[in-house]
Amino acid sequence: MTSPSPDSIENVIIVGSGPAGYTAALYTSRANLRPLVIEGFMWGGLLQQTTDVENYPGFPDGIEGPALMQRFRDQAERFGTRFITDQATKVELSDEPGGVHKVWVGKDEYRARTVILAMGAEHKKLEVRGEEELSGRGVSYCATCDAAFFKEKPTMIVGGGDSAMEEAIFLAKFASKVVIIHRRAEFRASKIMLERARSTENIEWLTPYTVAEFHAGEKGGLEIVRLRNTENDEELEVEIAGAFIAIGHEPQSHLAEDQIDIDDEGYVITEGRSTRTRRPGVFAAGDLVDHTYRQAVTAAGSGTQAALDAEWYLRDTPEVSTPEGMPPGDLAEAQWAQSSE
Ligand code: NAP
Repeated sequence: MTSPSPDSIENVIIVGSGPAGYTAALYTSRANLRPLVIEGFMWGGLLQQTTDVENYPGFPDGIEGPALMQRFRDQAERFGTRFITDQATKVELSDEPGGVHKVWVGKDEYRARTVILAMGAEHKKLEVRGEEELSGRGVSYCATCDAAFFKEKPTMIVGGGDSAMEEAIFLAKFASKVVIIHRRAEFRASKIMLERARSTENIEWLTPYTVAEFHAGEKGGLEIVRLRNTENDEELEVEIAGAFIAIGHEPQSHLAEDQIDIDDEGYVITEGRSTRTRRPGVFAAGDLVDHTYRQAVTAAGSGTQAALDAEWYLRDTPEVSTPEGMPPGDLAEAQWAQSSE
């Protein structure tokens, strides 16, 4: 782990480690900015929980999500990116051009002239009774992680998008059956994913229903799911051992929400087509800003934009001297040279 020093001011701190964060690290490290990535414990973002990624260009046979993220990380490391495998817990973002931003990891304080926010998104919750209590005891948000616990057992997927289809197809390899529960009769999922799910023998469909409540059985695990018909409010109880929720994602903007502009859904608002936030020297990229596309490849593209925006900002904004009088860029450089001796 890189130890913080009160004197050191980094050129770039990147918070987050999905395709956006690691691509921003790749570009800023290739620009000799020696980025510091605060990547979280579960580095790699949501792709760490995915199986085959078939739509990332350059991999004609597909690649497993975790293997893809390892490649992203290795490539950034090759050019001098440093990593802290821990959570950023607090930020203090300057509103002065050329000002110094602070990022905390627990008690350790890191300072930087630019910060790239790339915290991505997390699984959205249904917010119904029993969901939280039974999470990890039958309720899950990741079939890739938990499907093996439900061998030959009845399961359900909640959701109607590509994630729901992908999860259902994977889960169907383990479970006795997978019931897809969706609140509308039409599906948001792409044609190809829908067709794959429809041609999977042990996938069944139940619409238009939504979950009203999860119930535990005698052993404390999930046993009954109460469903509600969204058109006529009729209720239905089904016996299920595992329920997987795949209803989209929530941007993880909490860390900085009081210091930058975010919209009603929690996405960070950036200026025009740039990645600039309203704080000078603070940029945002990836699923944190993207309502619409939310693909690994678009997140990587947006990480590139943030890296270039940060690079140009550092080039064009006069440096604030540190207490010792050494320009921040040189300090990070000197610290790097020392740590790699
Ligand atoms: P999504 O496209 O936003 O779909 C979310 C689904 O959950 C929708 O069907 C939505 O219903 C439903 N939903 C949302 N809130 C709900 C609630 N409170 N109760 C019940 N249902 C609720 O999200 P996603 O499936 O995670 O996909 C996100 C993006 O990633 C998409 O662009 C997708 O194409 C992409 N993706 C691609 C792949 C692939 O190509 N292999 C795999 C996964 C994801 P409504 O439709 O009624 O709103």
